[in-house]
Amino acid sequence: MSVVVQGVTKMYGEQKALDDVSFEVKTGEIVAFLGPNGAGKSTMMKIITGFIPATSGSVFVNGTDISAEDPETKKCIGYLPENNPLYPEMYVREYLGFVSSLYKPGGSSRKQIDDIIRITGLTPEQKKKIGSLSKGYRQRVGLAQALIHNPDVLILDEPTSGLDPNQIVEIRNLIRDAGRNKTILLSTHIMQEVEAICDRILIIDKGVIVADELKSNIHSIMKRQKQIILIEFDKQADDSGLMGISNVKNVHRIKDTLWKIEAEGEEDIRPALFNYAVNNNLKVLSLQKEESNLEEVFRHLTGG
Ligand code: ADP
Ligand code: MG
Repeated sequence: MSVVVQGVTKMYGEQKALDDVSFEVKTGEIVAFLGPNGAGKSTMMKIITGFIPATSGSVFVNGTDISAEDPETKKCIGYLPENNPLYPEMYVREYLGFVSSLYKPGGSSRKQIDDIIRITGLTPEQKKKIGSLSKGYRQRVGLAQALIHNPDVLILDEPTSGLDPNQIVEIRNLIRDAGRNKTILLSTHIMQEVEAICDRILIIDKGVIVADELKSNIHSIMKRQKQIILIEFDKQADDSGLMGISNVKNVHRIKDTLWKIEAEGEEDIRPALFNYAVNNNLKVLSLQKEESNLEEVFRHLTGG
């Protein structure tokens, strides 16, 4: 089941939160929706789920225009809103029963609710009031309510924000497991999240999509980025020699024998540095490559 966004613009008064946004999430894909605060992620997700209307443009879920308010289409979508609003006075099981009754008369069976409680790891907390749960468990309740009607499409708005590192890993695993065979759009501003669970990356900045890439392509963009190497020789080297190595664009002496080398191109510069050392009777005491990461690609693409 796919999500197709076509030329969506959203105005809040005079302010343009989304500017002619188009993309598609194909059946079974897990797509990361990445961007800084205020980029328009939550706005886009509210429009996809039919919570707010677009100013112009359309969203199709499973081929049906979401603005048609078709109940069958809305049932295909599970939504975890930003800040995960819940009813603190309700008990976990009671709340999930209540949510499921919104989707079909009588709600889910006891077994279906048991299953979702088990899948989301809520079994030890199921008899508690939501308000008394830790942030991590509340997030599980949020995921449970998004999954309770077994939707084919999951829209998750910053599902791991505010969690501690252990909880983040658990929630990510949960999304990956529960999300098998589902179409997922997941917003985040954390790069590691993308690495951990997504196939494709959509980057939005100031209401405009600035990149739409498979994760593997992002890795190759990263490879084309600058390589930065810190290298220490046993004695003085000279900068004109280092600059003469092919693909080296810049050299900087940090201390007597410690150099920072900047190189371009996909080819790893390190073998050439070793050859240079051997040919010039230098010994390499240490060599360290600064890892470029998605964070840098993001800054590069958003001009930040
Ligand atoms: P993100 O989720 O990427 O942080 P949002 O979609 O929440 O971004 O916000 C996009 C822009 O729209 C921001 O500049 C934000 O201040 C503005 N905005 C969001 N919701 C409203 C609203 N209800 N009324 C007015 N402006 C809003
Ligand atoms: Mg947001």
